[in-house]
Amino acid sequence: MQRGLRVELQRIIMLALALGIAGFFNGHIALTLLLGGGLYMAWTLLKVLRLYDWLNGGGQGIPPESTGVWGDISDQLYRLQKRNTRARDDLRAVVKRIKKITSALDEGLILLDAERSVDWWNPAAARLLGLRSEDLHQPITNLLRTPAFVQFIQSGEFDLPLELPVPNNPQRLLQFSPRIFGNNEIALVIMDITRLRQLEEMRKEFVGNISHELRTPLTVLTGYIETLQDQDMENLPPAWPKALKQMGQQTERMNLLAEDLVMLSRLETTTLPQTIPVDLDPLFSPIIDSAQALSGNKHNITFSSCDQPLLDGDAKELHSALSNLVYNAVKHNPQGCDIAINIARDAEALKVSISDNGLGIDPLHIPRLTERFYRADSSRATQSGGTGLGLAIVKHVLLRHNGELTIASTLGKGATFTCRFATH
Ligand code: ADP
Repeated sequence: MQRGLRVELQRIIMLALALGIAGFFNGHIALTLLLGGGLYMAWTLLKVLRLYDWLNGGGQGIPPESTGVWGDISDQLYRLQKRNTRARDDLRAVVKRIKKITSALDEGLILLDAERSVDWWNPAAARLLGLRSEDLHQPITNLLRTPAFVQFIQSGEFDLPLELPVPNNPQRLLQFSPRIFGNNEIALVIMDITRLRQLEEMRKEFVGNISHELRTPLTVLTGYIETLQDQDMENLPPAWPKALKQMGQQTERMNLLAEDLVMLSRLETTTLPQTIPVDLDPLFSPIIDSAQALSGNKHNITFSSCDQPLLDGDAKELHSALSNLVYNAVKHNPQGCDIAINIARDAEALKVSISDNGLGIDPLHIPRLTERFYRADSSRATQSGGTGLGLAIVKHVLLRHNGELTIASTLGKGATFTCRFATH
């Protein structure tokens, strides 16, 4: 039993006994007990009132001195109050710290409630979007009315961030990355990516320029090497023929690399030229001839197509992408393999697939194959003489033609590269 309750009970028993004895001597037991009980209750009430007063004052300071049950209750309340105060102070400190951290961020942060109204923002968000205090609790789509942004927020699909120019300063580019949390609320992170994009543009330009500049010296080198190779080899020192052959091979590789880099840079920095309906049947014909030549007729290449496989696009770019896929099937697979090119059409798309039953690719590498210079097997790739840029070119061409590349493969069983061009 609680100590206070024990003391209280003892006190009541002693009081009842004392009142009983007093009543016995004055001959009015009931009256004396009633009077004494009344006084005890009044005294208790006084203690309760003092406790109330203390609580109404916010429980500040030390609670009123008391003994027995009320002393226990005051102590417990006091302890509870102290714990609450400490928890509140801790919480305040955390909130203050979070505010300081979010204020120090260069990224803007806006919290949106379930109705997509603005609940809170940090100083960077106010700076980037020009938010004012009266914008609080306004729907975000009233503050940023760009149709692409409105559609983005309403779609609720936030796997990829949205990039938009700043409304009143189109030179600057912002990236919006929403994350859903709590009760369908949104934490919207806003980044100024102007500098990043500028650097990216500079990188693209640099790669484009340097690969372009490399072409002239490479042409000169190739010319001289060919002239030297045409000379009578017998009059040259014995080490020369081998050296010249290797120089020829390496300049040829550098030529291919420069050409692919120029092509990639053009795909990245320009828009698609005027498109025309391209018939894929005649487009594939020279590709298959070149593939046969590359293979030395050692691969079994078959071609099947639907009726009139027409595709709106740029014939040169499509040739480049599709030939890369066919040449890859030859280059990366041993002689004797079957390579099947198939064109099919359904209601929504034209599908071109290039399948082989060769060595295949470990599924581990598939997601990264379209990255520049990524090779599934570097030792095999060096022998094949590829630039490592083929699939990157394919990806870019397809992007410009409303297309998508999917790669399916089982190691040891071959690979299928499918280009799906949306026609509707
Ligand atoms: P590369 O110039 O090396 O061919 P790509 O970008 O065209 O560069 O291809 C990237 C890598 O993908 C290749 O190095 C090769 O490892 C793999 N690859 C592409 N096509 C095939 C295929 N049909 N079979 C097996 N591996 C392939």
